[in-house]
Amino acid sequence: MFNQKGISAVKAFDQVKKLLGKDGDPYFDLGSYTTVEMPKEADELIKGALKKNLINKNEFEATTLIHDYLVKAIGEMLHVPEGIGYGAATVGSSEAAFLALLGARSKKKAFQKRDVANIVLCSNAHMCWHKAADFLGVEVREVRLENVEAYPMEEVLRQVDEHTLWVVATQGCTNLGLCDPVYLLNRSLEQLNEKHHWDVGIHVDAAIGGFIFPFTESVHPLWDFRLPLIRSINLSGHKYGLVYPGIGWVIFRDKRCFDESFIRSYDYLLGISESSTVNFSQNACFVIAQYFNFLHHGVEGYQKVIRECFKKARFLSEAINASPYFDVVGKSDIPMVVFRLMTSSDLGLNEKSFCEELRKRSWMLPHYVLPAKIDKRVMRIVIRKDMTWDRLRKLTEDLEQVCIKLLTEKTCFDDQ
Ligand SMILES: *Cc1c(COP(=O)(O)O)cnc(C)c1O
Repeated sequence: MFNQKGISAVKAFDQVKKLLGKDGDPYFDLGSYTTVEMPKEADELIKGALKKNLINKNEFEATTLIHDYLVKAIGEMLHVPEGIGYGAATVGSSEAAFLALLGARSKKKAFQKRDVANIVLCSNAHMCWHKAADFLGVEVREVRLENVEAYPMEEVLRQVDEHTLWVVATQGCTNLGLCDPVYLLNRSLEQLNEKHHWDVGIHVDAAIGGFIFPFTESVHPLWDFRLPLIRSINLSGHKYGLVYPGIGWVIFRDKRCFDESFIRSYDYLLGISESSTVNFSQNACFVIAQYFNFLHHGVEGYQKVIRECFKKARFLSEAINASPYFDVVGKSDIPMVVFRLMTSSDLGLNEKSFCEELRKRSWMLPHYVLPAKIDKRVMRIVIRKDMTWDRLRKLTEDLEQVCIKLLTEKTCFDDQ
Protein backbone atom coordinates (compact mmCIF):
# COMPACT_ATOMS: atom_id res chain seq x y z
CA MET A 1 0.00 0.00 0.00
CA PHE A 2 1.03 3.60 -0.39
CA ASN A 3 1.74 6.03 2.44
CA GLN A 4 -0.88 6.12 5.20
CA LYS A 5 -0.75 9.86 5.79
CA GLY A 6 -0.76 12.34 2.94
CA ILE A 7 1.64 15.24 2.58
CA SER A 8 0.94 18.74 1.34
CA ALA A 9 0.52 19.31 -2.39
CA VAL A 10 3.69 21.40 -2.42
CA LYS A 11 5.73 18.68 -0.75
CA ALA A 12 4.28 16.00 -3.00
CA PHE A 13 5.06 18.13 -6.02
CA ASP A 14 8.68 18.64 -4.94
CA GLN A 15 9.13 14.97 -4.21
CA VAL A 16 7.70 13.83 -7.52
CA LYS A 17 9.66 16.47 -9.41
CA LYS A 18 12.87 15.35 -7.75
CA LEU A 19 12.21 11.73 -8.57
CA LEU A 20 11.43 12.56 -12.21
CA GLY A 21 14.77 14.30 -12.45
CA LYS A 22 16.24 10.81 -12.84
CA ASP A 23 14.38 10.33 -16.14
CA GLY A 24 16.21 10.98 -19.36
CA ASP A 25 15.36 14.18 -21.22
CA PRO A 26 12.87 13.38 -24.03
CA TYR A 27 14.66 15.86 -26.31
CA PHE A 28 17.73 13.62 -26.17
CA ASP A 29 15.84 10.42 -26.92
CA LEU A 30 17.30 9.72 -30.33
CA GLY A 31 15.43 6.51 -31.10
CA SER A 32 11.94 7.79 -30.39
CA TYR A 33 9.43 8.95 -32.98
CA THR A 34 7.04 10.62 -30.60
CA THR A 35 6.59 14.36 -30.45
CA VAL A 36 8.31 16.26 -27.64
CA GLU A 37 7.54 19.83 -28.57
CA MET A 38 4.44 21.78 -29.56
CA PRO A 39 3.79 25.54 -29.69
CA LYS A 40 2.86 27.08 -26.35
CA GLU A 41 -0.63 27.82 -27.65
CA ALA A 42 -1.13 24.09 -28.17
CA ASP A 43 0.14 23.42 -24.66
CA GLU A 44 -2.44 25.83 -23.33
CA LEU A 45 -5.28 24.21 -25.29
CA ILE A 46 -4.17 20.80 -24.04
CA LYS A 47 -4.09 21.97 -20.45
CA GLY A 48 -7.55 23.48 -20.81
CA ALA A 49 -8.94 20.29 -22.32
CA LEU A 50 -7.48 17.87 -19.77
CA LYS A 51 -10.83 17.59 -18.04
CA LYS A 52 -12.71 16.61 -21.18
CA ASN A 53 -13.55 13.00 -21.84
CA LEU A 54 -13.78 12.25 -25.54
CA ILE A 55 -16.52 9.68 -24.98
CA ASN A 56 -19.02 12.22 -23.64
CA LYS A 57 -20.00 13.16 -27.14
CA ASN A 58 -23.25 14.93 -26.38
CA GLU A 59 -21.74 17.08 -23.67
CA PHE A 60 -18.79 18.18 -25.73
CA GLU A 61 -20.40 18.76 -29.08
CA ALA A 62 -17.67 20.96 -30.44
CA THR A 63 -15.03 18.38 -29.56
CA THR A 64 -17.11 15.69 -31.23
CA LEU A 65 -17.37 17.83 -34.36
CA ILE A 66 -13.61 18.33 -34.31
CA HIS A 67 -13.05 14.59 -33.98
CA ASP A 68 -15.38 13.81 -36.88
CA TYR A 69 -13.86 16.56 -38.99
CA LEU A 70 -10.39 15.11 -38.38
CA VAL A 71 -11.47 11.60 -39.39
CA LYS A 72 -12.83 13.08 -42.60
CA ALA A 73 -9.78 15.28 -43.24
CA ILE A 74 -7.33 12.44 -42.64
CA GLY A 75 -9.48 10.19 -44.84
CA GLU A 76 -9.25 12.77 -47.62
CA MET A 77 -5.53 13.10 -47.11
CA LEU A 78 -5.34 9.34 -47.70
CA HIS A 79 -7.64 9.60 -50.73
CA VAL A 80 -10.52 7.64 -49.33
CA PRO A 81 -13.16 7.32 -52.13
CA GLU A 82 -15.63 10.21 -52.20
CA GLY A 83 -14.06 11.52 -49.04
CA ILE A 84 -16.27 9.26 -46.92
CA GLY A 85 -14.19 7.00 -44.77
CA TYR A 86 -14.96 5.80 -41.31
CA GLY A 87 -12.62 5.86 -38.44
CA ALA A 88 -11.72 7.06 -35.01
CA ALA A 89 -9.11 8.65 -32.83
CA THR A 90 -7.32 6.04 -30.77
CA VAL A 91 -4.64 6.08 -28.12
CA GLY A 92 -2.03 5.23 -30.72
CA SER A 93 -1.39 3.02 -33.70
CA SER A 94 -1.54 -0.11 -31.57
CA GLU A 95 -5.18 0.47 -30.66
CA ALA A 96 -5.80 1.45 -34.28
CA ALA A 97 -4.22 -1.82 -35.42
CA PHE A 98 -6.38 -3.74 -32.99
CA LEU A 99 -9.56 -2.09 -34.30
CA ALA A 100 -8.60 -2.59 -37.93
CA LEU A 101 -7.98 -6.28 -37.32
CA LEU A 102 -11.16 -6.64 -35.30
CA GLY A 103 -13.12 -5.07 -38.14
CA ALA A 104 -11.58 -7.33 -40.74
CA ARG A 105 -12.08 -10.42 -38.63
CA SER A 106 -15.72 -9.78 -37.81
CA LYS A 107 -16.52 -9.05 -41.42
CA LYS A 108 -14.90 -12.29 -42.47
CA LYS A 109 -16.65 -14.28 -39.75
CA ALA A 110 -20.04 -13.59 -41.28
CA PHE A 111 -19.34 -15.95 -44.14
CA GLN A 112 -16.68 -18.09 -42.63
CA LYS A 113 -17.40 -19.94 -39.44
CA ARG A 114 -14.96 -22.74 -38.90
CA ASP A 115 -11.66 -21.55 -40.13
CA VAL A 116 -9.02 -19.61 -38.42
CA ALA A 117 -8.29 -16.36 -40.16
CA ASN A 118 -4.74 -15.23 -40.79
CA ILE A 119 -2.76 -12.15 -41.65
CA VAL A 120 0.48 -12.14 -43.60
CA LEU A 121 3.30 -9.74 -42.83
CA CYS A 122 7.07 -9.33 -43.05
CA SER A 123 9.47 -9.51 -40.16
CA ASN A 124 9.87 -5.73 -40.39
CA ALA A 125 6.26 -5.25 -39.21
CA HIS A 126 5.72 -3.75 -35.78
CA MET A 127 5.22 -6.00 -32.72
CA CYS A 128 1.73 -4.57 -32.23
CA TRP A 129 0.47 -6.85 -35.03
CA HIS A 130 1.53 -9.97 -33.17
CA LYS A 131 -0.12 -8.63 -30.07
CA ALA A 132 -3.41 -7.70 -31.77
CA ALA A 133 -3.53 -11.01 -33.65
CA ASP A 134 -2.87 -12.99 -30.45
CA PHE A 135 -5.63 -11.16 -28.62
CA LEU A 136 -8.07 -11.78 -31.44
CA GLY A 137 -7.13 -15.38 -32.21
CA VAL A 138 -5.85 -14.58 -35.68
CA GLU A 139 -2.88 -16.52 -37.04
CA VAL A 140 0.18 -14.50 -38.01
CA ARG A 141 2.16 -15.70 -41.01
CA GLU A 142 5.46 -13.92 -40.83
CA VAL A 143 7.85 -13.84 -43.75
CA ARG A 144 11.45 -13.21 -42.82
CA LEU A 145 13.07 -10.29 -44.55
CA GLU A 146 16.17 -11.73 -46.21
CA ASN A 147 17.98 -8.43 -46.55
CA VAL A 148 17.26 -4.78 -46.12
CA GLU A 149 16.88 -4.07 -49.82
CA ALA A 150 14.33 -6.50 -51.16
CA TYR A 151 10.72 -7.10 -50.17
CA PRO A 152 10.10 -10.88 -50.28
CA MET A 153 7.06 -10.59 -52.56
CA GLU A 154 7.03 -14.20 -53.74
CA GLU A 155 7.16 -15.63 -50.26
CA VAL A 156 4.48 -13.21 -49.05
CA LEU A 157 2.16 -14.29 -51.85
CA ARG A 158 2.89 -17.94 -51.11
CA GLN A 159 1.62 -17.47 -47.55
CA VAL A 160 -1.71 -16.01 -48.68
CA ASP A 161 -4.77 -18.28 -48.86
CA GLU A 162 -8.55 -17.95 -48.78
CA HIS A 163 -8.49 -17.38 -45.02
CA THR A 164 -6.15 -14.42 -45.24
CA LEU A 165 -7.86 -11.24 -44.03
CA TRP A 166 -5.15 -9.03 -45.37
CA VAL A 167 -1.48 -8.55 -45.89
CA VAL A 168 -0.08 -5.89 -43.57
CA ALA A 169 2.15 -3.49 -45.49
CA THR A 170 4.30 -1.06 -43.54
CA GLN A 171 4.97 2.47 -44.73
CA GLY A 172 8.12 3.33 -42.86
CA CYS A 173 9.05 0.35 -40.70
CA THR A 174 10.15 1.15 -37.19
CA ASN A 175 13.60 -0.42 -37.21
CA LEU A 176 14.80 0.34 -40.73
CA GLY A 177 12.49 3.00 -42.10
CA LEU A 178 11.68 0.96 -45.19
CA CYS A 179 8.42 1.12 -47.11
CA ASP A 180 6.88 -2.09 -48.38
CA PRO A 181 6.00 -1.78 -52.08
CA VAL A 182 2.26 -1.44 -51.60
CA TYR A 183 1.56 -0.68 -55.24
CA LEU A 184 3.16 -3.92 -56.42
CA LEU A 185 1.58 -5.87 -53.62
CA ASN A 186 -1.84 -4.54 -54.63
CA ARG A 187 -1.29 -5.65 -58.21
CA SER A 188 -0.07 -9.12 -57.29
CA LEU A 189 -2.92 -9.66 -54.85
CA GLU A 190 -5.46 -8.57 -57.44
CA GLN A 191 -4.17 -11.29 -59.73
CA LEU A 192 -4.22 -13.84 -56.94
CA ASN A 193 -7.76 -12.87 -55.92
CA GLU A 194 -8.95 -13.11 -59.47
CA LYS A 195 -7.37 -16.49 -60.03
CA HIS A 196 -8.80 -18.07 -56.88
CA HIS A 197 -11.91 -15.94 -56.34
CA TRP A 198 -10.51 -14.73 -53.04
CA ASP A 199 -11.10 -11.45 -51.28
CA VAL A 200 -7.72 -10.70 -49.72
CA GLY A 201 -7.08 -7.04 -48.96
CA ILE A 202 -4.26 -4.91 -47.64
CA HIS A 203 -3.97 -3.00 -44.42
CA VAL A 204 -1.36 -0.26 -44.45
CA ASP A 205 0.51 0.39 -41.22
CA ALA A 206 1.38 4.03 -41.75
CA ALA A 207 2.09 4.75 -38.08
CA ILE A 208 5.19 6.67 -39.15
CA GLY A 209 4.67 7.33 -42.86
CA GLY A 210 1.02 8.38 -42.63
CA PHE A 211 1.97 11.95 -41.82
CA ILE A 212 5.12 11.94 -43.97
CA PHE A 213 4.26 10.68 -47.43
CA PRO A 214 1.23 12.89 -48.09
CA PHE A 215 3.68 15.79 -47.71
CA THR A 216 6.66 14.71 -49.74
CA GLU A 217 7.71 12.99 -52.91
CA SER A 218 7.66 9.35 -51.94
CA VAL A 219 9.66 6.47 -53.31
CA HIS A 220 6.37 4.61 -53.58
CA PRO A 221 3.88 7.32 -54.55
CA LEU A 222 0.85 5.05 -54.53
CA TRP A 223 0.24 3.45 -51.19
CA ASP A 224 -3.09 4.76 -49.89
CA PHE A 225 -6.81 4.28 -50.64
CA ARG A 226 -6.22 5.05 -54.30
CA LEU A 227 -5.21 1.40 -54.53
CA PRO A 228 -8.38 -0.70 -54.61
CA LEU A 229 -7.31 -3.38 -52.16
CA ILE A 230 -6.44 -1.03 -49.31
CA ARG A 231 -9.08 -1.69 -46.66
CA SER A 232 -7.79 0.33 -43.74
CA ILE A 233 -4.85 2.47 -42.65
CA ASN A 234 -3.49 3.37 -39.22
CA LEU A 235 -1.44 6.44 -38.39
CA SER A 236 0.20 7.71 -35.21
CA GLY A 237 -0.82 11.29 -34.57
CA HIS A 238 1.92 11.43 -31.97
CA LYS A 239 4.71 10.66 -34.43
CA TYR A 240 4.91 12.89 -37.52
CA GLY A 241 1.34 14.06 -36.83
CA LEU A 242 3.25 16.27 -34.38
CA VAL A 243 1.08 15.74 -31.28
CA TYR A 244 2.38 14.53 -27.89
CA PRO A 245 2.11 10.79 -27.10
CA GLY A 246 -1.45 9.58 -26.77
CA ILE A 247 -3.09 9.76 -30.18
CA GLY A 248 -3.47 7.55 -33.23
CA TRP A 249 -5.96 7.20 -36.05
CA VAL A 250 -7.65 4.32 -37.82
CA ILE A 251 -9.36 4.99 -41.13
CA PHE A 252 -11.46 2.47 -43.06
CA ARG A 253 -12.42 2.51 -46.69
CA ASP A 254 -16.08 1.86 -46.06
CA LYS A 255 -18.62 1.01 -43.47
CA ARG A 256 -18.50 -2.69 -44.31
CA CYS A 257 -14.91 -2.74 -43.13
CA PHE A 258 -15.75 -0.57 -40.17
CA ASP A 259 -17.95 -3.41 -39.12
CA GLU A 260 -21.11 -2.54 -37.30
CA SER A 261 -20.42 -5.27 -34.79
CA PHE A 262 -17.92 -3.10 -32.99
CA ILE A 263 -19.74 0.17 -32.97
CA ARG A 264 -21.73 0.16 -29.77
CA SER A 265 -24.60 2.58 -29.45
CA TYR A 266 -25.65 3.27 -25.93
CA ASP A 267 -27.92 5.57 -24.09
CA TYR A 268 -25.62 7.48 -21.88
CA LEU A 269 -25.75 10.68 -19.90
CA LEU A 270 -27.14 13.22 -22.32
CA GLY A 271 -28.31 10.93 -25.11
CA ILE A 272 -27.33 8.22 -27.53
CA SER A 273 -23.59 7.89 -28.07
CA GLU A 274 -21.60 5.66 -30.32
CA SER A 275 -18.38 4.09 -29.22
CA SER A 276 -16.15 2.42 -31.74
CA THR A 277 -12.85 2.25 -29.87
CA VAL A 278 -11.46 -0.14 -27.27
CA ASN A 279 -11.47 2.49 -24.55
CA PHE A 280 -14.52 4.31 -23.40
CA SER A 281 -12.85 7.14 -21.55
CA GLN A 282 -10.08 8.88 -23.42
CA ASN A 283 -8.74 12.35 -23.00
CA ALA A 284 -9.98 14.79 -25.63
CA CYS A 285 -6.92 17.01 -25.38
CA PHE A 286 -4.82 15.32 -28.07
CA VAL A 287 -7.68 15.31 -30.57
CA ILE A 288 -7.92 19.04 -29.97
CA ALA A 289 -4.15 19.33 -30.31
CA GLN A 290 -4.26 17.49 -33.64
CA TYR A 291 -6.87 19.95 -34.87
CA PHE A 292 -4.69 22.83 -33.71
CA ASN A 293 -1.81 21.42 -35.76
CA PHE A 294 -3.91 21.12 -38.91
CA LEU A 295 -5.03 24.72 -38.57
CA HIS A 296 -1.66 26.07 -37.55
CA HIS A 297 0.67 24.23 -39.91
CA GLY A 298 -1.66 23.65 -42.81
CA VAL A 299 -0.48 21.34 -45.57
CA GLU A 300 2.40 23.66 -46.39
CA GLY A 301 3.55 23.71 -42.79
CA TYR A 302 3.65 19.92 -42.65
CA GLN A 303 5.51 19.89 -45.97
CA LYS A 304 8.09 22.25 -44.55
CA VAL A 305 8.57 20.24 -41.37
CA ILE A 306 9.01 16.99 -43.30
CA ARG A 307 11.40 18.60 -45.78
CA GLU A 308 13.55 19.94 -42.93
CA CYS A 309 13.60 16.56 -41.19
CA PHE A 310 14.77 14.84 -44.39
CA LYS A 311 17.42 17.49 -44.94
CA LYS A 312 18.81 16.98 -41.44
CA ALA A 313 18.67 13.20 -41.80
CA ARG A 314 20.74 13.49 -45.00
CA PHE A 315 23.26 15.70 -43.24
CA LEU A 316 23.56 13.20 -40.40
CA SER A 317 23.76 10.25 -42.75
CA GLU A 318 26.60 11.88 -44.69
CA ALA A 319 28.47 12.76 -41.50
CA ILE A 320 28.12 9.22 -40.20
CA ASN A 321 29.19 7.74 -43.50
CA ALA A 322 32.24 10.00 -43.66
CA SER A 323 33.38 8.90 -40.22
CA PRO A 324 35.84 6.00 -39.99
CA TYR A 325 33.91 4.54 -37.07
CA PHE A 326 30.45 4.03 -38.52
CA ASP A 327 28.64 2.43 -41.35
CA VAL A 328 25.13 3.47 -42.45
CA VAL A 329 22.84 0.44 -42.81
CA GLY A 330 20.10 0.36 -45.44
CA LYS A 331 18.51 3.34 -47.06
CA SER A 332 15.75 4.59 -44.82
CA ASP A 333 12.68 6.03 -46.56
CA ILE A 334 11.88 8.19 -43.55
CA PRO A 335 13.95 10.88 -41.76
CA MET A 336 16.06 8.44 -39.79
CA VAL A 337 19.59 7.08 -39.92
CA VAL A 338 20.29 3.45 -39.07
CA PHE A 339 23.96 2.73 -38.55
CA ARG A 340 26.42 0.46 -36.83
CA LEU A 341 29.87 0.60 -35.38
CA MET A 342 32.27 -0.34 -38.09
CA THR A 343 35.09 -1.12 -35.77
CA SER A 344 33.16 -3.28 -33.39
CA SER A 345 34.85 -6.55 -34.26
CA ASP A 346 38.37 -5.29 -35.06
CA LEU A 347 38.86 -2.83 -32.26
CA GLY A 348 36.63 -4.22 -29.58
CA LEU A 349 34.24 -1.28 -29.53
CA ASN A 350 30.76 -2.42 -28.77
CA GLU A 351 27.36 -0.80 -29.01
CA LYS A 352 26.63 -1.21 -25.34
CA SER A 353 29.62 0.77 -24.10
CA PHE A 354 29.23 3.21 -26.97
CA CYS A 355 25.62 3.97 -26.02
CA GLU A 356 26.46 4.13 -22.32
CA GLU A 357 29.17 6.67 -23.00
CA LEU A 358 26.80 8.74 -25.13
CA ARG A 359 24.27 8.60 -22.31
CA LYS A 360 26.79 10.43 -20.13
CA ARG A 361 26.44 13.25 -22.64
CA SER A 362 22.63 13.04 -22.25
CA TRP A 363 21.95 11.30 -25.57
CA MET A 364 19.79 8.19 -25.38
CA LEU A 365 20.56 5.93 -28.31
CA PRO A 366 18.92 2.50 -28.70
CA HIS A 367 20.75 -0.48 -30.15
CA TYR A 368 18.99 -3.59 -31.43
CA VAL A 369 19.26 -6.50 -33.82
CA LEU A 370 17.70 -6.03 -37.24
CA PRO A 371 14.55 -7.93 -38.23
CA ALA A 372 16.23 -9.13 -41.42
CA LYS A 373 18.33 -12.29 -41.60
CA ILE A 374 21.40 -10.23 -40.96
CA ASP A 375 23.33 -10.67 -37.82
CA LYS A 376 23.86 -6.99 -37.25
CA ARG A 377 23.42 -4.92 -34.18
CA VAL A 378 22.43 -1.44 -35.23
CA MET A 379 21.49 1.92 -33.76
CA ARG A 380 18.98 4.45 -35.01
CA ILE A 381 18.65 8.19 -34.85
CA VAL A 382 15.21 9.54 -35.68
CA ILE A 383 15.09 13.13 -36.85
CA ARG A 384 12.05 14.78 -35.36
CA LYS A 385 10.79 18.32 -35.73
CA ASP A 386 12.48 19.34 -32.48
CA MET A 387 16.00 18.54 -33.72
CA THR A 388 17.76 21.85 -34.37
CA TRP A 389 20.87 22.27 -36.53
CA ASP A 390 22.89 23.23 -33.46
CA ARG A 391 21.95 20.09 -31.59
CA LEU A 392 22.50 18.00 -34.67
CA ARG A 393 26.04 19.32 -35.09
CA LYS A 394 26.73 18.71 -31.42
CA LEU A 395 25.39 15.18 -31.82
CA THR A 396 27.65 14.38 -34.78
CA GLU A 397 30.62 15.65 -32.79
CA ASP A 398 29.67 13.61 -29.76
CA LEU A 399 29.25 10.44 -31.80
CA GLU A 400 32.77 10.78 -33.08
CA GLN A 401 34.32 11.88 -29.80
CA VAL A 402 32.81 9.01 -27.87
CA CYS A 403 34.46 6.57 -30.28
CA ILE A 404 37.81 8.29 -29.92
CA LYS A 405 37.50 8.28 -26.14
CA LEU A 406 36.60 4.60 -25.98
CA LEU A 407 39.39 3.64 -28.37
CA THR A 408 41.96 5.66 -26.44
CA GLU A 409 40.87 4.09 -23.17
CA LYS A 410 41.04 0.67 -24.74
CA THR A 411 44.55 1.21 -26.09
CA CYS A 412 45.75 2.45 -22.69
CA PHE A 413 44.13 -0.55 -21.06
CA ASP A 414 45.73 -2.97 -23.55
CA ASP A 415 49.16 -1.39 -23.03
CA GLN A 416 49.09 -1.99 -19.28
C1 LIG B 1 5.07 3.11 -33.51
C2 LIG B 1 4.56 2.09 -34.44
C3 LIG B 1 3.43 1.32 -34.13
C4 LIG B 1 2.78 1.38 -32.78
O1 LIG B 1 2.19 2.60 -32.65
P1 LIG B 1 1.86 3.32 -31.27
O2 LIG B 1 1.35 4.62 -31.77
O3 LIG B 1 3.16 3.41 -30.52
O4 LIG B 1 0.85 2.50 -30.57
C5 LIG B 1 2.93 0.48 -35.09
N1 LIG B 1 3.52 0.35 -36.28
C6 LIG B 1 4.63 1.05 -36.61
C7 LIG B 1 5.23 0.88 -37.96
C8 LIG B 1 5.20 1.93 -35.69
O5 LIG B 1 6.31 2.59 -35.98
